[in-house]
Amino acid sequence: MITKTRRLPSVDARDLEGWAGVGNVLRLTPATVARWRVPEQARTLLVDVGLPRLDTRFIPDPQHGDEPALPTMYVIGREQITPNHVHEAGCTECGYFGLREGSGEVVYRWLRHDGDLLVNSSLQHFLYFLHKQGAASVRYEGVNEEKMMRLYERVVARLEARDPLALGDESSFWKARFSRLWG
Ligand SMILES: [Zn+2]
Repeated sequence: MITKTRRLPSVDARDLEGWAGVGNVLRLTPATVARWRVPEQARTLLVDVGLPRLDTRFIPDPQHGDEPALPTMYVIGREQITPNHVHEAGCTECGYFGLREGSGEVVYRWLRHDGDLLVNSSLQHFLYFLHKQGAASVRYEGVNEEKMMRLYERVVARLEARDPLALGDESSFWKARFSRLWG
């Protein structure tokens, strides 16, 4: 049932800065991530490529410290669910993105709910997903809504081919977010 996964193109810092803006890509220091128990590739990406801001859908806000800030996940950023609130630690107006300890899978947690949603198989996949959406929102700015929906559907289909697990079922994070975009 799952289609063959296509090879993932790599995304570099300049790709991200192209749509997010130079000041909106946050690179972590090697010392911040040195002791995080995640695959080496993820640590390298955090330092060399960085985390791009995608409006309120992904705000880079990485944790400090060597242990997972939320049990079993190293927090890398958040989604602002409620607009214009005063954000503080442990806020329930935001959902948190993190890297699962060990596997490095990207997971999402909203503190009002139990359990995590799987976002992407790896940080590399997550950066690719953010990049395709960020670049699309710049490229298609001003396009009418109907056409925009069709364009976005094409983007989603391409993303699904890269990380089928991320769009695997109705409870998956991206499935919910993409349906909200045009729901
Ligand atoms: Zn908040």
